[in-house]
Amino acid sequence: MPCALCDGDQLSFPVPDAAGEHLPDDRPGAALCTHCLAVEPVDDPPSAYPAFSESIPGFPDGEAGAVVACVFALVDSLALYRAEVSALADAAERRGVDVLLLIDRLAATDGVEPYFDVSRRGTQLEQLLYE
Ligand SMILES: [Zn+2]
Repeated sequence: MPCALCDGDQLSFPVPDAAGEHLPDDRPGAALCTHCLAVEPVDDPPSAYPAFSESIPGFPDGEAGAVVACVFALVDSLALYRAEVSALADAAERRGVDVLLLIDRLAATDGVEPYFDVSRRGTQLEQLLYE
């Protein structure tokens, strides 16, 4: 399935239990766009995590990558999902990922054009995480 926003390739992944409880959609999987980083719910995801970093240079692999993708699913709805985004970013951090740093790096990566406003959402995320 191509991305609904940009027609880019998507990576389907199972939503980790640690992230699923914070997502408003309770489907078992999601798909991350390798171009704009938009995330859509998926009904029947693969059982294993995809090699995120092979399609998106610098993206974390494994469960950490899946948790980060869940942050991206909600980052453009920060006002609505403050607590959820905060909990997901914490979960990513516990898995060794600095979400703010990663967003900056991805925004500077060739072939990646985040669907959300990086500077605006980055600032909001920073305020949310460090206030
Ligand atoms: Zn896309």
